[in-house]
Amino acid sequence: MASGDGLLVRVRPRFGRLTRDQLLALCDAAETYGSGLIELTSRANLQLRGVSEASWPGLMEALVEHGLVAADPEAERRPQLLLAPDWRAGDATNQVGRLLEARINELPALPAKWGLAIDAGAAPLLSEASADLRIERAASDALLVRADGRARGTPVDSPTAAVELLIRLAHWFVASGGIHAGRMRRHEAPLPPWAPASTPPASTLPIRAGQPMALGRHPTGRVLGLPFGRASAATLRALIGAESVDAGSVSAVRVTPWRRLLVEGVPTSETFQEQVPPGLVESEGDPRLAMQACPGAPHCEQASVATLGLARALAERRLIAGSLHLSGCAKGCACRQPTDLCLTGRAGRYDLIIGGRADGTPAATGLSESDVIEYLEKNRNALRL
Ligand code: SF4
Repeated sequence: MASGDGLLVRVRPRFGRLTRDQLLALCDAAETYGSGLIELTSRANLQLRGVSEASWPGLMEALVEHGLVAADPEAERRPQLLLAPDWRAGDATNQVGRLLEARINELPALPAKWGLAIDAGAAPLLSEASADLRIERAASDALLVRADGRARGTPVDSPTAAVELLIRLAHWFVASGGIHAGRMRRHEAPLPPWAPASTPPASTLPIRAGQPMALGRHPTGRVLGLPFGRASAATLRALIGAESVDAGSVSAVRVTPWRRLLVEGVPTSETFQEQVPPGLVESEGDPRLAMQACPGAPHCEQASVATLGLARALAERRLIAGSLHLSGCAKGCACRQPTDLCLTGRAGRYDLIIGGRADGTPAATGLSESDVIEYLEKNRNALRL
């Protein structure tokens, strides 16, 4: 799709997992055809930015060759299957994913934003992630099919039955006029009698630092954060290509909706910590995990300022407790919503906007990076940021 900085190309890794070879191919593609940055979205997709119309066909060829994009464009229009990132081969999440994948063509034509969450572990991880139908686990351990926006779902007795019911509900959504609402959450028609919303999902696990998957050690490997939700191709290549006795064993990377990667097969020993490339985050307290920042200069031709340097400086000083958006220009590609503080590049300087979007009315204009820091240090209490 078109964006302020050229074409934006979104990759939906199958079951949210990229093999080492696929990730290396994606890194090469990002550098050859795009800006060299790889973004992770809140729907666990990977995005390349800064792609030109001229380079798009070559990029598609490379992505199809490595199984990162389906050769058939129709397949890419099917709803995304978002799997709980901690799935294991043969577990219920993985089984349902395979069954649903095999029957995906039985789904009706659905709105482009539709998604399906498969979250069949002992406790749901994806409750806050965007999806229209969910397959989860009830407290009784039964599988549950739940329409988004409804607190309860319908229990079923097997993965096959769960997939059957999900497909039937997708057809019901269309037949009952859901296309006009667009998303299941906004579709107010009462659920059909054959899909009673009778049973709540199991409770979520206690969440550390607001995140379902904590940074650090994980039974599958290690969870690492992406500052501002992105990493350079060079950083990811360094991660999986890190050469040492331990780190040589990285076998695959899983994407999550939480600006985090689950790196499979890395050692859980303390020695790995030293090998985490600097462009990744291991500390929950790092403010860059929550900040919004577009790539800025030199990655985007529309930008007259380098957003990421100032974002890092603000994070280091911990000047902002609220939400922050740094935008290279007034287009505001990284965030369409108002934030507590927004800094927008204009003619090589920053406009400072309180409680608005990148194109909002500034409270101060023409600031250099040091002016911004000085302004915030002086006005921090008054602004309550
Ligand atoms: S500078 Fe940022 S906001 Fe402006 S077009 Fe480029 S990516 Fe979008």
